[in-house]
Amino acid sequence: MNKHLATLMRKSDIASRLQTTTLSQRFLVGNQVTLESLLAKVVSYKTISYDKATNRKAMSYVDRFLRKRGMKTRYVEHNGHPSLYAHTRDVNFIQPTVLLAGHMDVVYAHDRDFRMQVTDKHYVGRGVLDMKFAIASYMKLVDDLKSNLKAYDFGILITSDEEITGRDGIPHFIQEGLKPKVCILPDGGFDWQIQTLSNGFLFLALTARGKNAHGSLPWLGDNAILKLTAALHEITNTFSNTPEDTDTINIGIIEGGNAANQVPDYARATVDIRYHSEERKQQIFKNIERATASRNIEVEVIENGLAAPFSLDNPMIRPFAELITTETGVAVEGMKTRASNDTRFFAGINVPCISLYIPGGKHHAEGEWIDRKSFEQFHTILGKYIESQARQP
Ligand SMILES: [Zn+2]
Repeated sequence: MNKHLATLMRKSDIASRLQTTTLSQRFLVGNQVTLESLLAKVVSYKTISYDKATNRKAMSYVDRFLRKRGMKTRYVEHNGHPSLYAHTRDVNFIQPTVLLAGHMDVVYAHDRDFRMQVTDKHYVGRGVLDMKFAIASYMKLVDDLKSNLKAYDFGILITSDEEITGRDGIPHFIQEGLKPKVCILPDGGFDWQIQTLSNGFLFLALTARGKNAHGSLPWLGDNAILKLTAALHEITNTFSNTPEDTDTINIGIIEGGNAANQVPDYARATVDIRYHSEERKQQIFKNIERATASRNIEVEVIENGLAAPFSLDNPMIRPFAELITTETGVAVEGMKTRASNDTRFFAGINVPCISLYIPGGKHHAEGEWIDRKSFEQFHTILGKYIESQARQP
């Protein structure tokens, strides 16, 4: 027995004594390309959005993997955030039939969360659900098809800043002319339910100005905090902020004033509004205008992400929903998600998106998990979808 093999066997022995094993060990022992080994490898990169260096390493790993199997790839960076575009035939072809998209970055986690754990039913680790399971599945798909890759027309786009705005990823490709017939971007919509809406968002700053005076002589001043809070009450009252309503408002930051004994001449609030349609957004703007104009409050749009509605009847989405039902028995009725994701960029150019999570939970938290069987099923569904939609004569 050579020394290398002996080391591997020792590692395997240790692993088998653990109730749960870490995948880096299993990867060494098996060394064949499986969904599990790919997911463990991708999870092992600590790709927190701000860590550009680690995201670069993860991206080059995926790049090498895809190129080795015949994909044409292009690596780019915007503000230091790496992205990777790949196509089965020609990397300059940015209007593929199907685009498989995903983000490599994750929100902050402890080091231990990047060693994927395997239990009877689950894979546990940061990013397994949001959304490295999809990246691993795309890689496995390319491995499955490698000898016959040229018979398919699909692209893969991996970005690394979704959790911190997404501005340095997909928008640049769209500006260059990226326009698939359909985009698969599994990043929201739980338990196989394809997302039929992800809310738009509006981050606003409201600034009120007034006049200073001594705190004991308030009639000589003009209190900016009072003006601002009155306007905020009026605006907030136009939202129900109940679970039944898709539209919400949150006043996240409020600042103003320097001393208890001074009438403040300045106050500012930062507000997070979520809305379900662009028509609704226009109504919200009217309500805000009514509450702020008379009080001379300045309104600034810090960030606006479009609402992204998708119909299950869309001819590119329906076949995927049907495959889900055939493989899992789950009836797909659609799901409205309150948070936003990168599908909003595609909604802006009328590209239908298929976004869904497989059964799993705790994304953005410790103990993030996915169901192992569902992961396999997702991969089967993806393979069949690509076979039916992206295979070309
Ligand atoms: Zn995500």
